[in-house]
Amino acid sequence: MRKINPVDFTLATRGTSREINRQIALTLIRTHQPVSRADLARLMETNRANVTLLINELLQEGLVREGAQASQKVRGRKPTFLYINSQKSVAVAIDVRASRTFLMITDAMGKQVGDIVSFPTKFDPQEFVTELGIQVRKALLDKVGSAECDDIGLVIPGMLDRKTGFVLHAPTLRWRNVNLLEPLSKEFKGTDIHLENSGKACALSQIWSTRGDGLVLTDIVYVSVSDGVGVGVVMNGELVRGKHNTAGEFGHVPLSIDGPQCSCGANGCWEAYISNPATLSRYFGRDIAARQPQSVDVAEFTIEDLIARARSNDSKALTALHSTARYLGLGLASIINSVDPSQIYIGGELTEGWDLIEAEVRAAIKERALTKDLGEVPIRIVPAIEHPRLRGAVALVTARTFAAPKVA
Ligand SMILES: [Zn+2]
Repeated sequence: MRKINPVDFTLATRGTSREINRQIALTLIRTHQPVSRADLARLMETNRANVTLLINELLQEGLVREGAQASQKVRGRKPTFLYINSQKSVAVAIDVRASRTFLMITDAMGKQVGDIVSFPTKFDPQEFVTELGIQVRKALLDKVGSAECDDIGLVIPGMLDRKTGFVLHAPTLRWRNVNLLEPLSKEFKGTDIHLENSGKACALSQIWSTRGDGLVLTDIVYVSVSDGVGVGVVMNGELVRGKHNTAGEFGHVPLSIDGPQCSCGANGCWEAYISNPATLSRYFGRDIAARQPQSVDVAEFTIEDLIARARSNDSKALTALHSTARYLGLGLASIINSVDPSQIYIGGELTEGWDLIEAEVRAAIKERALTKDLGEVPIRIVPAIEHPRLRGAVALVTARTFAAPKVA
């Protein structure tokens, strides 16, 4: 049998193992499609009769469809290939940030449909939900011709109570104890809504991704650098949540107790040194908070603009980036020393300038790493063009169908 993570395996009832077999089958079809029933039986290490039963069920529910026949005959018959029915449902992935909110429509496979839409984030929670409703329905009408969707995956730059759907604290949005799930459920009636912290969602999407490269890493850290800093830690294949689902807030660990003021109100947090507003503040020589009113030229100047200036030999821009790189490396070293991951992922616009800052980041990690191995932890950059936070939001929806059992 295939390997199942015992921690996820809460109750070994008939229903549970049936559900897990369905998810394994769907995950394998998604990864290997087009795939025949015989191949699926081989991949699942089970017999044809079991697979036939399972597939009949998935065909009936419309989750799987039959497609073109294979050109090669097997035992005198041409097998019919199986595919995931990507038209089965429509989902919306939403990435909420202090500066802007981004949204993307996807099919049942998590494949992007149409362009990504973005709009300024409203800071009043009710206004935020109303605006989101307008934008989501408009995007759905534009891209799929109907204002309805089956699922919404939404990532928040803050700490979230998963049971109640309350945002406990989102520093860059200045939200504390905001009931988000209830107004969202009212706004999007009949839609399943999945909320997650953005750093955690990004980490989950990395371990859930079925890129087929055969690499299954069980101890990873994801660091998302944007208006704030989000971190997701996975240990032994499990996301570290803690008692209140707020574990992993490395962005608010101080680098210096008398450093610049952070969005959380404290001084000298890692975030206050490496977030996009922190880097821009360093460049402009004054405080650029993501949601403070700025003059138009400053408000429209982004971290990408700063990177472009650094590339065209603006030494002030390069200095600002190099300082961020050093602080990024020092903070990463603390995380590496604390959790000993096998890989670090870094996402965010800052990674566009990775070639300009990589040496500084790695030097700072080596300087503070407690052992030689810790100083050499591989770093994988997740390019902004992959929209890792939106991919994280997508994973909240697709993982329920495809990835709950960790298929090794
Ligand atoms: Zn802070």
